[in-house]
Amino acid sequence: MRLIILTLAYILSMLLMVAAYGAPDAATAAPPAIPVPAPSPAAEDQAFAQFVQDFWPTARAAGITATTYDAAMGTISRNQHISDLNLNQPEFAKPVWDYLDTAVSAQRIADGKALLVGDADMLAKIEAKYGVPREILISIWGNESDYGRSMGNYNMFQALATLAYGGPRTDYARPQLIAALKMMQQNHYAASDMTSSWAGAFGQTQFVPTTFLNQAVDGDGDGKIDLWNSIPDALASTANVISKAGWAIGKPWGYEIALPAGFAYDSSGLDVTYPVAAWSARGVKTVAGAPLPANGEEASVYLPAGARGPAFLVFPNFKAILKYNNAASYALAVCLLADQLKGAPSVAGAWPRDEQPLNLDERLALQSALVKLGFDIGKIDGLLGNKSRAALRNWQKTHDLPADGYPTEDLLSRIALEAQQKKQ
Ligand code: CA
Repeated sequence: MRLIILTLAYILSMLLMVAAYGAPDAATAAPPAIPVPAPSPAAEDQAFAQFVQDFWPTARAAGITATTYDAAMGTISRNQHISDLNLNQPEFAKPVWDYLDTAVSAQRIADGKALLVGDADMLAKIEAKYGVPREILISIWGNESDYGRSMGNYNMFQALATLAYGGPRTDYARPQLIAALKMMQQNHYAASDMTSSWAGAFGQTQFVPTTFLNQAVDGDGDGKIDLWNSIPDALASTANVISKAGWAIGKPWGYEIALPAGFAYDSSGLDVTYPVAAWSARGVKTVAGAPLPANGEEASVYLPAGARGPAFLVFPNFKAILKYNNAASYALAVCLLADQLKGAPSVAGAWPRDEQPLNLDERLALQSALVKLGFDIGKIDGLLGNKSRAALRNWQKTHDLPADGYPTEDLLSRIALEAQQKKQ
């Protein structure tokens, strides 16, 4: 759940930047200095105290008692570090292979295998009740908190109130703050026991408070739901979320594939689905070179690093993980770790480790150049969404290049040069 927040927060911060500066031109893609001087920390602290007072009627209207509100909010102060993180503009994206190196490390595989043995009885019960494989649950646990080692040590009310008070995440944080107060009131938690990440995600599998209220369950049957201290509660709650997201029992998430020479790369992407038989007819095979096993499901070809990297055929179960956390690299990490907990080999295809993802300035420059060449990319916001990728694909097609829509430094320099020449 943590990654959902960061992704959403990233989008919000990008939108904020564009709103503040307007759409930057390629030549002046670096944003200018912020024109409005920031208030002093002391003035911010005073405004924060006022926010805590002003927020009380909203909480009361949501059913929060004065006793709960005072216990949670009475002594908190603004956290300057969280304020700084909140305004931080992420400049560089981590390459997917670096992310997977950490997410599916040898240590994480070994730890997960030990937990599969040690917690076998508990996992069998959860698997039987919710139909979500135990390896997926252990993998989500490992990916979210490194099996409980890093659940976040902030006071949840301080964290959420700091985000709710001001900055780009108020729309996210205010309902979460209300939900956190409800969690405390309904479950009789002590405010001091409610720790979270700086973004307010908490517990073994990093739920956010609204998801807790809607979908958390009591896995160990002691009458309380405790996602911090009860592993059965955390894993059963996670299984409930994945089950409700549409996980199909006994079906695969996907597997690595080999694409034929001349593959039509514009048919890759999670938004394009065909029956497995149609992919077979296009020459797609398993990574071992065998025919694709027919299973009657619709599937997408997912290229995490473009045409030069490994390729995966993914099914609706992959998309169920995406509903838990809408980042394809996260879903891939969860699924690959789950496979390797079962003894599957690591990814066979080579990652293009010589390439670096485009930074913010480069993404803005790529979008500007595509606009100059007459492509509709939507808003120049540095986000490279569906429209930008479709434009990139169309440019690749007109230049007889694999139309994977995957942005690289090489493509940027070629497209920028063409835009420059067109201008002259
Ligand atoms: Ca419990």
